[in-house]
Amino acid sequence: MHKLYRNNIFIIVFSKKAAKNMLDITKIPEIVNHLKNTSNYYKESGGEIIIFCPYCDDASRPKASHGHMYISKTMPVFNCFRCSSSGNLVRLLIDTNFTDEDILKYLSSFIRYKNVKDYYRSKKKIAKLKQIQETVILKNLEFEKQYKNKFEIYRQYLIQRLGNIDFTKFLISPTFFNQKTSCTFTNSENEDIVLRLIEPYKDLRYHLNPDTSGKYFFQEIDFEKYSSIVLAEGPFDILNLYLYNIDFKNCFYIALNGKKYLNTIESLLIEHFLLKEIEINLIFDMDVIQKNQYKMYLYRSKLLTKQYNPNILIKGWKPLIKKDTGDFPAITEIS
Ligand SMILES: [Zn+2]
Repeated sequence: MHKLYRNNIFIIVFSKKAAKNMLDITKIPEIVNHLKNTSNYYKESGGEIIIFCPYCDDASRPKASHGHMYISKTMPVFNCFRCSSSGNLVRLLIDTNFTDEDILKYLSSFIRYKNVKDYYRSKKKIAKLKQIQETVILKNLEFEKQYKNKFEIYRQYLIQRLGNIDFTKFLISPTFFNQKTSCTFTNSENEDIVLRLIEPYKDLRYHLNPDTSGKYFFQEIDFEKYSSIVLAEGPFDILNLYLYNIDFKNCFYIALNGKKYLNTIESLLIEHFLLKEIEINLIFDMDVIQKNQYKMYLYRSKLLTKQYNPNILIKGWKPLIKKDTGDFPAITEIS
């Protein structure tokens, strides 16, 4: 058994294309036995293996009759529907003291984008959106009280870019950075993501907070509420789309702060949409259209979703006129 299996690995590892189609966790007895031993609950159902989640007290619930941890049979990923822990199977196996390095290496070869390899998040305490909004209100009030003129510059700048908006709703607050008036975009996980310098500043307009993953979103993360996701490069792109484009309804908006389309899609898939249907809309800036890079982003996004969850629909959009969405939020679908 072992010998045959090792031989298979040898062939699979040298053929990436084959590897994509051939992973079947249920055919790896070491993993199956390990899961059975650690969980006391093991069930194969459709495309998944279901076990008790090792990260929450899943097994010790009173009358625990079934597990909440779902592991894909064909992709090395997992997701707990009880505590939302999710990530790649390598992480789960290591955390549960699985030690066969050959198998761990073999599984790793199926992870496509190495730089977003580890998605495991423990059940973290996320501050309530309302609390974050209250902090934003305070920041605005205090800044206005202390620097009346600067606050007016900040306010006028945002009116010019977005219209007369509610700073609280969008988690925007004024601050100083290098003595320049700036606005901070905080996301609904309470991370200060990006600073936009307002007063003329030649070399640097944006400053990303290096301590975060760099994604700005202002809506509460509760994907039961949304039927689609909108991904665009900057905060002004998504805010203008949200405020002034009626094509997108019932969407969750994410600003990537760069062109991290693929990484973001992969982590969304693994963290939230392994089993759920959702539409993902990629909004491209003019430079991506002009350099034809949008084709690569679309092609690879579709490949990714096909691997993880074929029920996810990817759509690409480009500016209707030659202006980025942050300035003119009219877009048209790329056919
Ligand atoms: Zn759990």
